[in-house]
Amino acid sequence: MKDFGYQVHRDNTIDFEKNDFRIARFLLEREPSLNLCIGCGSCTGTCSTGHFTEFNIRKIHTLIKRGETEMARKQIRQCMFCGKCQLICPRGINLRNVILGINRALEKI
Ligand code: SF4
Ligand code: SF4
Repeated sequence: MKDFGYQVHRDNTIDFEKNDFRIARFLLEREPSLNLCIGCGSCTGTCSTGHFTEFNIRKIHTLIKRGETEMARKQIRQCMFCGKCQLICPRGINLRNVILGINRALEKI
C-alpha cells in the first residue's frame, strides 16, 4: 500500500453491545471522584512507572470507563503505588483508590 505519511486511525466508537462495563461500574461506585476527570494527562506525565515503561494510567482509567479492560489487565500491576499522580491531579481525584479499585475489580470480575 502507498505510504502517504499518515494513517487512518481505527474506529474509536464505544461498542455498548460488546464492551464490558462491570469494572467501570464497580470502580465508579467505589470512587465516584473519577467522574470528574478531564483527561488532562497530568497523572500520566508525572507517573513514576510511566517514565520507564509504556504504562499510561490515564489511558487505563479512560479505557475502563469505555468498557475496554484489556490494557488494565495487562498493565495495572506495574503501578508502584507511589501516589504522585494523585498529588498532581487538578481535579483532586483519589487515584490511589482508583488503582486499588481496578485491582480489586480485576480479582473479582
Ligand atoms: S490528572 Fe486527574 S484530571 Fe488529569 S487525566 Fe489524570 S485523573 Fe484525569
Ligand atoms: S501511583 Fe502508580 S499510577 Fe500513580 S504515579 Fe505512582 S506509579 Fe504512576
